Amino acid sequence: MRVRAYRFRAYCSNTTARVLNTQLEAACKLYNTLLHAEQEEYEENKRTMNKTELRQLALDLRKQNKEFQALHSQVAQQVADRFYEARQRFFEGLANKPKKKRSHQYLSLVYPQSGWKLSNWREAGRGKNKKRRARLRLSKIGFFTLVIHRELPLEQVSQVCVKLNPSGRIHVIFLVEEAEAEEQQSEKPKNAVGVDLGITRLATLSDGRYLENPKPLERALDRIRVLQRTFSRKRFLSKNWLKTKTRLAKQYEHVKNFRCDLFFKLGVLLSQEYDVLVLEDLNVQSLIQKGETKKRRMRLYDSSFSELRRILEWEFLKRGKTVLAVSAYNTSRECFLCGRINKGLTLEDRIFHCPHCGFTLDRDLNASLVLLRRAGWVPSAVPVELRPIPPLPSLGLRRQGGAMKQEAPPFMAG
Ligand SMILES: [Zn+2]
Repeated sequence: MRVRAYRFRAYCSNTTARVLNTQLEAACKLYNTLLHAEQEEYEENKRTMNKTELRQLALDLRKQNKEFQALHSQVAQQVADRFYEARQRFFEGLANKPKKKRSHQYLSLVYPQSGWKLSNWREAGRGKNKKRRARLRLSKIGFFTLVIHRELPLEQVSQVCVKLNPSGRIHVIFLVEEAEAEEQQSEKPKNAVGVDLGITRLATLSDGRYLENPKPLERALDRIRVLQRTFSRKRFLSKNWLKTKTRLAKQYEHVKNFRCDLFFKLGVLLSQEYDVLVLEDLNVQSLIQKGETKKRRMRLYDSSFSELRRILEWEFLKRGKTVLAVSAYNTSRECFLCGRINKGLTLEDRIFHCPHCGFTLDRDLNASLVLLRRAGWVPSAVPVELRPIPPLPSLGLRRQGGAMKQEAPPFMAG
């Protein structure tokens, strides 16, 4: 079984938003109470509580305390599950010890089985913007209007989560359990593409196409800097502190959305054309740590290679296609033609020139061809020139008059 998340934007009245806020505060308090109870239990009896005990404790607390009664009983139990999971991750050495949470850090409620209902489906928008709207009733909270922009397999939904983003926007996430990839590719893969990731050009494909790095964070940085400065002057947890925090979160969310949108579109474009994706096995964390200047580190961070890789892989695997990760060692210094290493190549050299055989090619293009060869594919011809991926409206780049039409890519959430 594979779990897939379907995420939809949700809108609600001010009253419902206030109720949601109160409930999030209550859930946060319950979490902290459980944490405290667990600590006391450990100090007195030198033991930790198991999942059932924690759940029962959450229900007992809900019975005794009026504030917790505002929560749906299953939501309260899920708070216990969440604490249990956090503690298990700490025991397994994967995370730090669970800490007391503040209410601005506790932002989602989960309905694990029941307590929600979708109704009142209706069409909205025209042409390309056609989508459906539906009304979601969450028990004890109220009504939300959802924009259902993609097909939702309603029968397979296993749980529903309502999430208040730091920017103040609300999303509702449906978890759907699906059978594992049904049709594995039966026929032999026909073509492969090597993708070299970089800072100047975000992605260079072995067929000669490339995607410019839009550097979304760098472009938003002026605004973020000013806001961050204002934010630092506010009194912690005061009203103005919270207000500025929301404004700042909006900026970061915009950067994140821009990136995700672009990556998914690139993934769709590649996975429709190719059967095999060849990527280099990068250790992005150490790459960032090795970055010499602050600017370089920031740009590496801004390029989000891990996220890009994750999304490209997902788009290929979803269609039953293959993803190969090959060793990243010396990919940019190896000559594609003779396979020998060009030791003199520096970061500034944009053109690869082989001192052994005289082969000359763009640096990133050479690297993507080397990747392809390492994975055992021989490209039919070496692309002579580089050309940018056309700024299709569906690629989230600049819109141009009379741009090529392309099937709108299906969007993924979560
Ligand atoms: Zn050579």
